[in-house]
Amino acid sequence: MAKLTVRDLSVSGQRVLVRVDYNVPMEEKDGRMVINDSTRIRETLPTLKLLQEKGARIILAAHLGRPDGKREPSLSLRPVSEKLAELIGKPVQFVDECVGEKAEAAAKALKNGEILLLENVRFHAEEEENDPVFAARLSVLADAYVNDAFGAAHRAHASTCGVARIISAWGGRCAAGLLMERELKFLGDELEAPARPFVVILGGAKVSDKIKVIDRLLEKADTILIGGAMAYTFKLAHGHKTGKSLVEPEHINTALDAESKAKELKVQFELPSDNVIAELKDTGKLNKKGKPVFEPVNPRVNTETDIPADCEGFDIGPATSARFSQIIQSARTILWNGPMGMFEDPRFGEGTLAVAKAVAAATANGAKSIIGGGDSVKAINKAKLGDKVTFMSTGGGASLEFLEGTPLPGVTCLDEN
Ligand code: AMP
Repeated sequence: MAKLTVRDLSVSGQRVLVRVDYNVPMEEKDGRMVINDSTRIRETLPTLKLLQEKGARIILAAHLGRPDGKREPSLSLRPVSEKLAELIGKPVQFVDECVGEKAEAAAKALKNGEILLLENVRFHAEEEENDPVFAARLSVLADAYVNDAFGAAHRAHASTCGVARIISAWGGRCAAGLLMERELKFLGDELEAPARPFVVILGGAKVSDKIKVIDRLLEKADTILIGGAMAYTFKLAHGHKTGKSLVEPEHINTALDAESKAKELKVQFELPSDNVIAELKDTGKLNKKGKPVFEPVNPRVNTETDIPADCEGFDIGPATSARFSQIIQSARTILWNGPMGMFEDPRFGEGTLAVAKAVAAATANGAKSIIGGGDSVKAINKAKLGDKVTFMSTGGGASLEFLEGTPLPGVTCLDEN
């Protein structure tokens, strides 16, 4: 059943606690914390503007970084209140607490349409513990609750779900924000009965991280394309040599089971036929954990089934890129999660770039393309194709858990419509 959304709320004159994702990258410049990328703040504007139009008194709760339950000045949300004021074109109040007398007085003093940002909820250890007393102290600030922080919805914390349970219990409405609504629509509803062919592209580091997603999507997809380091565990499972590639030998059976299930369900399951490999040169340096740092050198395409003992696989090869691109171009629905290689290094970014281009081209031909968060979003943005796909998720871990079919605490706590 669909969740209640902020559109459905009548909140004129009411105090609405809105959980947002303002976990923005910051750095210190001339003794001040400066926001490097305000995308996450910008993304909340539609919800905040709608609430302003509805005459709500808006109280924003968010976390920033990992202060581990202590007040950490460099992780204060004050600079975010200044940035939000600039972006929304209206004053934004800030209170250097998120619960207690000061926060309550500031919330009470709000007039219709005004915005108050509370201090970092993670300055209190009780936030991540989902402590009921702390959640109750948050709940007294508001009459209704809106969750627009999809990226934090997989966490059962006080501000992401505990507070909603309390507000609900005494009859207050709890709704999804517009950003959250879009995530639920594209990662959820749109994939329930996708237009076919439905092509799923999965990459990234580990099979173990993605196996639940593979398992669930095998029930729905027509084709699954596997790239990234996780393809090497499949290679190993087939008895081939993987050299120094990232593999999970303990997950060989997981990989084989996924392939058998694909066969049973008549899902086309495609693995790379060639790779970009490189030798590893010892730099003589040690990383933070005291382990030697190796530099990939002499990158080249490997068309053999085995990877030489002194090499690591870092990307899908050109033949695989071409085959995957062709399959993607014929899709009517595409879901992509995880890069095809170690794309952060341009020598190993060609496969991911080819896939990004194919997804953009398919979208231009009418396919619906959904980018399931994390590094695939970074890759699409790196290729400057962000506006050429249908939807990019704002979640990392949350997107993955949602795609696995795991109920997200920050979503289940919201009222049904
Ligand atoms: P994930 O978070 O599981 O989607 O993994 C993303 C990370 O996997 C990125 O940082 C990539 O650099 C890395 N990655 C993908 N393919 C490879 C590969 N073949 N070798 C090493 N790292 C890879």
